[in-house]
Amino acid sequence: MANDGLIAPHGGKLNQREVTGAAAKALEEKARSLPQLALNSREMADLELLANGGFSPLDGFMTQAQYRSVVDSMHLPDGLPWSIPVTLSVSKEDANRFAGKEIAMTDGEGRALAVMTVAEEFEYDKPHEAENVYRTTEDKHPGVAALYAQDDVLIGGPLQVFARRTDPTFPEYRLDPAQTRAAFAERGWKRVVGFQTRNPVHRAHEYIQKAALEITDGPLLHPLVAQTKGDSIPAEVRMECYKVLLENYYPKDRVLLSVLPAAMRYAGPREAIFHAIMRKNYGCSHFIVGRDHAGVGNYYGTYDAQLIFGEFDAQKLGITPLFFEHTFYCKRCEGMASSKTCPHGADDRVSLSGTQVREFLSKGVEPPHEFSRPEVARVLIAAERAKV
Ligand SMILES: [Zn+2]
Repeated sequence: MANDGLIAPHGGKLNQREVTGAAAKALEEKARSLPQLALNSREMADLELLANGGFSPLDGFMTQAQYRSVVDSMHLPDGLPWSIPVTLSVSKEDANRFAGKEIAMTDGEGRALAVMTVAEEFEYDKPHEAENVYRTTEDKHPGVAALYAQDDVLIGGPLQVFARRTDPTFPEYRLDPAQTRAAFAERGWKRVVGFQTRNPVHRAHEYIQKAALEITDGPLLHPLVAQTKGDSIPAEVRMECYKVLLENYYPKDRVLLSVLPAAMRYAGPREAIFHAIMRKNYGCSHFIVGRDHAGVGNYYGTYDAQLIFGEFDAQKLGITPLFFEHTFYCKRCEGMASSKTCPHGADDRVSLSGTQVREFLSKGVEPPHEFSRPEVARVLIAAERAKV
């Protein structure tokens, strides 16, 4: 890995907390006699990223020093950038029961996946975390609501994962950081640009991906597929849109499609940094940040997720952000453009709101081809029909 020319993982090396073979068997055996803690869906997603090195350099759920440092300064105690707390909350009773012990972490069905050494248990200030991380204390914000619903004590310490979840979605696209890195190395890619999305892919996204491809070796299209409440379009449909787009409009060996198993926090700017750091671990040297990245409602300014990168030492962050404007097809330019490149007015631009797109699709009508590729539109229309 050292000579592949790819960007180094965050902190220098991939910290994969998964053990395999005989060590995994031994740990699984040991877990049977330990106190058990069932993880919720966000914690399961975090566990997978700890297992596969996507959260490098973390070696477990955060300790108090890590938590405080991240909440207050967006850096780990050793000065490495890290913007989102990765925490595990338990009740006071459980915290007392687990103190100083090893515990087994289980999935929803009671199957043990990991063993954690509970090094610390500590109380925390939820409104303070909300204000710093989400920039609001309103519980209407889904990230804040999830935080307020957590238990009152956090436990931190190193963990080892001996089994992966049994129900992963898109297993064939669920590449670990070591696997995406191997795929890039095999293709001779060194400059790789990560693209994050949780929406169906339209021509504006395609344009941005291809603009980034012009100055790099290849894009990692890395949609987030964990199902979230606000999603009107299921992850299966979004993935199908990607597949037909790649088949028809991308050179086969110039793009890699994989999925990121992370849970959304909707922390806007802070989450943009978090998303960039994860992509660095997956081997990306560059990361696309659009308008209102990872935002929700009107909690963040349109460009906040781009501006926040200015608060970090570029060397320490390592991955280079690429900032993009809202893009559209312009009839007079006769091509895709943005306000940076097109001097024309709204009348010349083919731009649709989410509501307008939904209207087209619900009537079974393809949106203008300047807006959506027909192959993508057909997938979305079929999905719309399957609903009723
Ligand atoms: Zn124009």
